[in-house]
This record gives sequence, C-alpha cells and structure tokens, in this order.
Amino acid sequence: MRYISTRGTAPALGFEDVVLTGLARDGGLYIPDQWSPVSADEIRSFAGAGYGDCAYRVMRPYIDGFCIDDAALRTLIGETYAVFDNADVAPLRQLDGDTWLLELFHGPTLAFKDFALQFLGRMFEHILAKREARITIVGATSGDTGSAAIEACQGRDNLDIFMLHPAGRVSDVQRRQMTTVRAPNVHNIAIDGTFDDCQDLVKGMFNDEGFRDALNLSAVNSINWARVMAQIVYYFTAAAKLGAPDQPVSFVVPTGNFGNVYAGYAAHQMGLADARLIVASNQNDILTRFFEAGDMSISLVKPSYSPSMDIQISSNFERLLFDLFDRDGAAVTSAIGKFRETGTLPEGARLRAAAGKVFSGFRTVDDDTLTTIRETHAANDILVDPHTAVGLGAVRQMAADGTQRIVLATAHPAKFPDAVEKAAGVRPELPAHLADLFEREERCDTLANDLATVQAYVRDNAPAAA
Ligand SMILES: *Cc1c(COP(=O)(O)O)cnc(C)c1O
Repeated sequence: MRYISTRGTAPALGFEDVVLTGLARDGGLYIPDQWSPVSADEIRSFAGAGYGDCAYRVMRPYIDGFCIDDAALRTLIGETYAVFDNADVAPLRQLDGDTWLLELFHGPTLAFKDFALQFLGRMFEHILAKREARITIVGATSGDTGSAAIEACQGRDNLDIFMLHPAGRVSDVQRRQMTTVRAPNVHNIAIDGTFDDCQDLVKGMFNDEGFRDALNLSAVNSINWARVMAQIVYYFTAAAKLGAPDQPVSFVVPTGNFGNVYAGYAAHQMGLADARLIVASNQNDILTRFFEAGDMSISLVKPSYSPSMDIQISSNFERLLFDLFDRDGAAVTSAIGKFRETGTLPEGARLRAAAGKVFSGFRTVDDDTLTTIRETHAANDILVDPHTAVGLGAVRQMAADGTQRIVLATAHPAKFPDAVEKAAGVRPELPAHLADLFEREERCDTLANDLATVQAYVRDNAPAAA
C-alpha cells in the first residue's frame, strides 16, 4: 500500500515512513492511495469474532509486509487490546429501542484515544527496533491526547516523549493521568500559557530543522494515519453486531478534529456503504455549520463542558476534502489556502451537497449537554460523559429513519466528574486501576512560554537522541 498526500506534491511513502513522518512535507496529510475493501460476508463474520481478529483483518492491508510479518502483527494487536479492561474491548450497550452506546473508554486512560495510541506506541517501538533508530516525540495537549500518548509510550525502548500542557488549564484528572507516570522516558512540561501557545511551541520545534533532525522529532497527533487506521476497526465490529451490512446503522460521533468520524468514513468506503455518519458538535460548531448549510467559517473558541471538542479548525477534515475535490491535491491546496486567508472555505454549498450523501451534523450546546446527562441518568441509570452527551443530544434531534443509532461514547464519565456531578447530582467513580490517582506523586516542570527555553529543556533531557 502506498500513501499519498492530500496536497498532491509530497512523495508517496510506505506505511513505516508515514507512521514516523506524520505530516507530509507539502503540509498535507497522508492517506492510502486506495481503500482496501472488506466484503459483506467478512463483515457478517465479524459479529462473532474477537476484537483482535477483526482488527487484524481491517488493518493488515494497510501495513506493508516488510514492516511487520503476519505473526508479529497479530501479537502486537493482541498485546494492544489486552490492556483494555473489558473482554469485548469496544462493547455495545443498548440505551433504548434503537439507540446504542459504543463504549470506547475501557482503555488505560478512559478515552477512545487509547484505541489508536496503544497501537501506535507499540508500532513505534517495533519500527525503531528494526531500524535501530531513536526518536523524540513532542506534543501539545489540552488533556486526553497527552494522557493517552504518555501511557502508550511509557517505558518503551528507543523513544522519549515530551508533552506540553497549558499550566492550570487541564482538569485535575487529566493532569494527574500524565504527571503521575513514572517512566524515565516521559517528560511533562506545563507551559505558562494557553493550549494554542503549547501548539505554537511544538510547531516552532518542528520548524527548526537543525533541532528537528538532531533530536529526530516525531509526532503522535491525530493527523498520523496510523491513528485513523486503528479507529476504523470499531466501526466494523459495532455495525456487524447490529446486523450490518444487512441492517442499516448510523454512527453518531462527538467530534472536534474530525479524526474519529473520518475513521468512520474510511469504514464506509471500505464496506459499510449504507452507514450514515452523524457529526455531533458542541457550541464550537464549525463542522455542524458546514454539514447543515455549507458554511465552514472560523469563529472564536467558546469553552464548553466537552473540552476535547473545543476546536476552531478540524485538521482531519482535509482528508475528506481531498475526496470531495475528486482527489485533486492542487484544488485542496488552493481551498485550504483561501480558508486560512479569509476564514471561510470556498465552494461550501457544492462541497456540502457532495458530503451530504454520507454525513449530517447536529449541535448540542452546554445547557442541553447537562440536560441530556441528567435525563439519561434518570431514564437509564447510566452516567455519560459530556462528550458522549453531545452525541446523545444529536440523536434527540434526528428524525426517525429506521436505522440503529450507534453513539460513540468517547470518554468514561469519571474523566469529567465535575460536569457529570453538576448535571446528575452524582459523582462518577474512577475505575479500580485509577482509584489511587489522587494519592500518586506528580512529576512535571513548569516552563516559560518561550521556544528557546523549551528547546533547551528537551535537548538536556533527551541525551541519547542527540
Ligand atoms: C479527542 C476527543 C474527542 C474528539 O475527537 P476527534 O477525533 O478530535 O474528533 C471527543 N471526545 C473525547 C472524549 C476526546 O478525547
């Protein structure tokens, strides 16, 4: 399988290089040059198969044989999903007649990001051992990505991870999930600044070519193809359990960066051709405005109860845009350029009409999020986290269409206890493996919002990479 850039000019790469590179050199995102189909019979067979077997079947065609052989890939996948604390890995739970929760929070850090990052951490280690190379991962997080990435990379050979978060601006649970990890290759940096400042510092490190090459910088953000790939799997397993491809399903996906729902689109292209994809946004609704009315225009971020979806620009949307422009990289480059320049995506109405065959969008603002948490608790005795509630809020707005609705439950309620308690009057408890989180010792250094300071820190603390 070859991977091509959405901007059309970077060289095509194989899987290994795409995993290590992340962003393409022309500024685009890598996608496979073709979708690997899964037949109707294979999808039916997933209903009774284990999660690891389905993951192997879905992902194997995207991973070159010289990168990893069949047996080693099976082992790697087996180890990845063995750390989840539910035998089904991604269990479905019925809420009422045609609404289901797909619980994606049984991984070590309680959010769906574990599905991809637990896989990616092991894949990095495998590739680096094979190449006898060492990398330095740098990232910025507003919460969930950082904890999932740190958990996935801790103690792994041949890599160090430096994670920047805005000091005082992530929740206590999220911060402690990062700062209480004790492995010596994990480095937490609190920045005196905002999440955007953290992101700018990371960009600054990547743009400094001397620094980038000396430390062999790598990234784990959601534009990495391997993360999308690992997320495709649960769309297939969930749909199969509800009778796909013979029964129609809709996926309702709480989203900000368009990463998770883009994996749903990949599953759609690979074989779930009847599935509809419902984009659920909070009050930061740039995606919903696009799917409703073709209007993709940037506005200010308004902080919400579902902070992992408080995003202005959905970076993974570019991957869909590539298909909406009939895989014309020059057209994507021009459209993204105009979007960055004017704040509005050109040709919105035409693009929306094409996307509308598969996607629709709904928004759920903060008040309705809390109401949904409260009413779901009252009616079903289930606590849902605020991101999941944004998905359930979308279901409430959807007209009956004869499909089974699969709402992706992207986080455990105990990851966002304050909002859940405010809504339902009950404080959700952390699962057993995190029960002593608030007694564990924290390890984190606070640095000024200054590129040279952060670079010096990374250089000093990643000695083996230099
Ligand atoms: C990251 C995250 C999201 C948004 O996912 P995208 O792939 O960026 O759309 C939603 N919910 C939770 C809990 C998250 O951590």
